[in-house]
Amino acid sequence: MGALKQTEEEKTLLPQDIGTDYTFKRKIVWFNAIGFFILHLLALYGGYRLLHCHILTPLFALALMFVSGEGITLGAHRLYSHKAFKASFVVRLAVIILHTIAGQNCLYIWVRDHRQHHKYSDTDADPHNSNRGFFFSHIGWLMSRKHPAVIAKGKTIDMSDLENDSLVMLQKEHYKFLYIIFAIGIPIAIPIYGWNESFTNSLFISYFGRYILQLHATWLINSATHLYGTKPYDKFMNPVENYFISMIALGEGWHNYHHAFPSDYRAAEYGVRYSITTFLIDALAFFGLVYDLKEANSEQVKIRAVKKGDGSHPVFGKQKEMEVNFSDRQVTANG
Ligand SMILES: [Zn+2]
Ligand SMILES: [Zn+2]
Repeated sequence: MGALKQTEEEKTLLPQDIGTDYTFKRKIVWFNAIGFFILHLLALYGGYRLLHCHILTPLFALALMFVSGEGITLGAHRLYSHKAFKASFVVRLAVIILHTIAGQNCLYIWVRDHRQHHKYSDTDADPHNSNRGFFFSHIGWLMSRKHPAVIAKGKTIDMSDLENDSLVMLQKEHYKFLYIIFAIGIPIAIPIYGWNESFTNSLFISYFGRYILQLHATWLINSATHLYGTKPYDKFMNPVENYFISMIALGEGWHNYHHAFPSDYRAAEYGVRYSITTFLIDALAFFGLVYDLKEANSEQVKIRAVKKGDGSHPVFGKQKEMEVNFSDRQVTANG
């Protein structure tokens, strides 16, 4: 009987009913907190080594950050978390390798956390609830014990599509081994064997420095783009449009649009309005390597912007609700 009651509660508990309990006391996971502190010191030393390294080493680290970043944005995010398009085996294999180089946990866990973030956005069931402030949504959530709502709701996220993807499950099963090879080994080896870089420089610049810098770029999407910017599509949610984050996070900073229309492969209204990831998906589609690209139509966007936006939309911002023929089905489509 207890289990049945719980199921009924599950059904009626909407995301907005969970909310944020500001009296909740977070418990620090000291192992993680000290680990991140040490990682940052090692990355800072990587910054110092820039004064004494081969010019190609930082350029290589930047290129690796960019390329492996697509394993996150194009792969883990738009392809796997949101199913915004379909991809051939070659693209999926490349995604798994690049995602492993970026080293942000296995794709399965990345996607589960992200789906949960969208479903319970900015509530206690969101792993990085931005109502708890910049530090928590940026890095603090990774050094705190999970809120009970995160644990409970995490178990309800449908992951069956990833469980049926042999590449994803292979990476999940052998993640530690693959991390050592792809995130640490290869990035350190290439500068050493490619242009005679020292082991020390390669380790601290191409691994520690690159790794921490890329983590911060990703974390800013959870923190800054839920806090600082405009809300042209929906002022009733925390995510915002943030130009700066879009520049450094491969086009993932148009976050108000993305939360309004999560399965749109462009993750922004105008596609390539600085979104290198969208440009890349379009190029892969041209060669037939990805297909079935989903996007919200302009009518859906217009309705959402006029009805719920904060008025900052360049075209629809000043239009009055009366001018648009609303239907709830259209407003919520895709969102
Ligand atoms: Zn978000
Ligand atoms: Zn997303």
